[in-house]
Amino acid sequence: MATKQFKAESKRLLELMINSIYSQKEVFLREIISNASDAIDKIYYKALTDEHLTFDQDRYYIKIIPDRKKRTLTIKDTGIGMTKEELENNLGTIAKSGSLAFKTKNELQDDHHIIGQFGVGFYSAFMVADVVTVISKALGSNEAYKWESKGAEGYTIEPCEKDSVGTEIILKLKENTEDENYDEFLDEYRLKAIIKKYSDFIRYPIKMDVTERRRKEGSENEFEEYKEEQVINSMVPIWRKNKNELTKEDYENFYHEKHFGFDKPIRYIHIKADGAVRYNAILYIPEKIPFDYYTQEYEKGLELYSNGVLIMEKCPDLLPDYFSFVKGMVDSEDLSLNISREMLQHDRQLKLIAKNIKNKIKRELANLLKENREQYEAFFQSFGRQLKYGVYSDFGSNKELLQDLLLFYSSKEKKYVTLEEYVSRMPGEQKYIYYATGDTNEKIAKLPQTELVTEKGYEILYFTDEIDEFAIKMLKEYKGKEFKSVSSSDLGIEEENEKQTDAEEKENHELFEFMKKVLSDKVKDVRASKRLKTHPVCLTADGDVSIEMEKVLKAMPN
Ligand code: ADP
Ligand code: MG
Repeated sequence: MATKQFKAESKRLLELMINSIYSQKEVFLREIISNASDAIDKIYYKALTDEHLTFDQDRYYIKIIPDRKKRTLTIKDTGIGMTKEELENNLGTIAKSGSLAFKTKNELQDDHHIIGQFGVGFYSAFMVADVVTVISKALGSNEAYKWESKGAEGYTIEPCEKDSVGTEIILKLKENTEDENYDEFLDEYRLKAIIKKYSDFIRYPIKMDVTERRRKEGSENEFEEYKEEQVINSMVPIWRKNKNELTKEDYENFYHEKHFGFDKPIRYIHIKADGAVRYNAILYIPEKIPFDYYTQEYEKGLELYSNGVLIMEKCPDLLPDYFSFVKGMVDSEDLSLNISREMLQHDRQLKLIAKNIKNKIKRELANLLKENREQYEAFFQSFGRQLKYGVYSDFGSNKELLQDLLLFYSSKEKKYVTLEEYVSRMPGEQKYIYYATGDTNEKIAKLPQTELVTEKGYEILYFTDEIDEFAIKMLKEYKGKEFKSVSSSDLGIEEENEKQTDAEEKENHELFEFMKKVLSDKVKDVRASKRLKTHPVCLTADGDVSIEMEKVLKAMPN
């Protein structure tokens, strides 16, 4: 039988995978088990929502079978199985999403980071096996198929025998080398430990025949070995456990198991709500920006479970756009299993949960800001822009929620400050919160428009992000203090210079008139400046819109 080639991307990815992606080989088991659990979820969900299907709780399990003689490790599940087409499509190609195309096009350096963004779990089997065989029978099908691959070369597919619906993955473990020992993945004790570590909360039993010893019947000191099927995992989903039973590592393992990211989350929030609406949730604030975060491709959302059964992988209605970076899951017994996407949007319970979650995230971020400034600044570097978009969109209705989470660079402190910090330092006579816009902090510092304000000893916030000024226009004011661009013609601090400039104005009247004529429609007026100290001229804006903002508006398509 001809061996089919993997799609080109798969080939490259396989090589990458085998050599570098996962730092620990043992995670292959987590990946295979999590696929098995997904497959059971699918059949379980079908059975719950389809009257024609009956189900029996005992029918659903995952079994791990190490075989020392054959040097194989088999992972068997009673999930939904795969048809021939599904075997080809799901295991023969990866990166259909175009993520990999994106990566190659953009020549991104950090392979690890990117790879972690999409499901490549199955391929991790090749870290420990040189031959991977998948035998599967799909629900509703009479035929079973065998898919087999020796790695990058490709795969074969052929009909085979299998009694029941489900999948068996058989890994022919690699030969030991001087540096690597693969025998550990045949060791019951080691396998138990790996399963406990990564897959303890899987909702279905993960079984294994474990060797036990007992005293021989009728004998005092003779022992015999026997096999006993045991369930290795505790099966209690992590979100149902008590917080005090869980360690930081448990939460991090769950984050990775769920493929929320390859980074270590900077914060996690475990919610057990028992009030007007009952739900459990685990939410994470990631450390690194997902590579597609600021693109159209990025999909926000949380996993949604109804009483332990996954009903949606990315429920967008649970997260406002400005918190779209948050990862995690929500489980509620108050939601119906059969709820459709459209109905969900209007579901009262779901709205309550979403509101609740929004406030929890806000509080967590505020705490982070208070407790670990450095970490918050790193967070803000990644996701601050999204918060500012949040202020700008919805016509400032998120003002209360978001304004205290914003950071801007301060001329005085030479670091990022909050609006509250700015206002608390304002001298009594200072009327406005001043800001200046430009490409970089260095460039802004040299702007002639900043001179008078700085000379007065007032602090200026530097806006280097285009969204900054738009966001601030939506806020209008903070604690009763309005925002004022340093390039605005009325800075509210000119009084002392007033008389002198009035005299200058008269003296130079003819010159100004002449300049106005020459510049004609390029300027509205030419006046003696009340603000310049060392710079000869400066442009100011007369309306509400600063010069920088005008530039942005002009650049926008009409
Ligand atoms: P992901 O799980 O992120 O989708 P994987 O590489 O882990 O990516 O798996 C690829 C796909 O192969 C899965 O989405 C699923 O459709 C299919 N698959 C893998 N293992 C099984 C299994 N045990 N039973 C049914 N389908 C499976
Ligand atoms: Mg997977």
